[in-house]
Amino acid sequence: MIAAGEAPLSVSPLGEADQGPPPGTGCGQRGRAGSFLACVRDVSALRWHPDDVRDRARGAFLGLALGDALGATVEFMTPGEIAAAHGVHREIVGGGWLRLRRGRVTDDTEMSLCLARSIAAAGGLDLRDVAERFAAWLRGGPADVGNTVRRGIRRYMHDGTLEAPPAVGDAGNGAVMRMLPVALATLADRERLAREAVAQGHLTHHHPLSDAACVHLGELLHLACLGGSRGRLRRHSDAFAVQVPAFRFDPYRGLATGYVVDTLQTVLHHFHRSDGFESCLVAVVNQGGDADTTGAIAGALAGAYYGSEALPARWLRRLEAPVREEVEALATGLVAASPLLQGGEGWV
Ligand code: MN
Ligand code: MN
Repeated sequence: MIAAGEAPLSVSPLGEADQGPPPGTGCGQRGRAGSFLACVRDVSALRWHPDDVRDRARGAFLGLALGDALGATVEFMTPGEIAAAHGVHREIVGGGWLRLRRGRVTDDTEMSLCLARSIAAAGGLDLRDVAERFAAWLRGGPADVGNTVRRGIRRYMHDGTLEAPPAVGDAGNGAVMRMLPVALATLADRERLAREAVAQGHLTHHHPLSDAACVHLGELLHLACLGGSRGRLRRHSDAFAVQVPAFRFDPYRGLATGYVVDTLQTVLHHFHRSDGFESCLVAVVNQGGDADTTGAIAGALAGAYYGSEALPARWLRRLEAPVREEVEALATGLVAASPLLQGGEGWV
């Protein structure tokens, strides 16, 4: 599979349209310049091994839960308040404004679990099934739920519609925080990723910036799960920031609110300059603001990129065992059913 000399890691820059996508990658014309749905047609040139992809997927879902649990302690605090209370916040200790038990996760992980369970059970993205699971979750009285998420789920419960109407107020980070299961389930099919990223997002958030963030995060997760290099991922984000300038993250403005632009800038800034999973997450959550959500998103991305062995054992021990076991099983299952592994190992 990964024999030397086979399909060398491509270093061609994103956005070149000098050759078409390789057959079978699902990359279409609309991915060409000018669209944030840019097609990274060179995924097929990445060398990957199924064991590595599974490991990265597990790392991603565990990383999401770890970032959520770590960040929840300092959610809605300023960097100065965090420094005064914790020095550098680097342990999973619970507390925070939600007064969480140590190791508890919040809506970021819980909504991701709803999506992952649904995709695993339905064998693909079934929006009505997802909406039903979101509704059941909301009825169960979650510790935390964002305003736009609550409004979107209530809309579904009221009228059964699967898409929120476009709204200027929907540019929160609630759709992007739950993107990981869709990314894992669509590995190697970027058109499906873009379609399903937006569709799941529109259940509660209908805003072009939320859509763009969902697609970009999904594409980064694809590249990371397939072993894309640091430079590859960085070039992809740089191209994204050119196509959707609102998301420019260099220079970093230091804002980490629940506005999807601030959230993604925080994640991209810290992820792309990180040298490890732990240091990435510590830097992200100490930025404060919507720290459990920036932590969850950065945790998914860094977990995919650095792999499960990079996750600190002392953090993993703090996670509640049922959550830890379920996210690992779902990550493995979603990847196994993805086009990448279902498509056979011969096409790469
Ligand atoms: Mn949360
Ligand atoms: Mn949050």
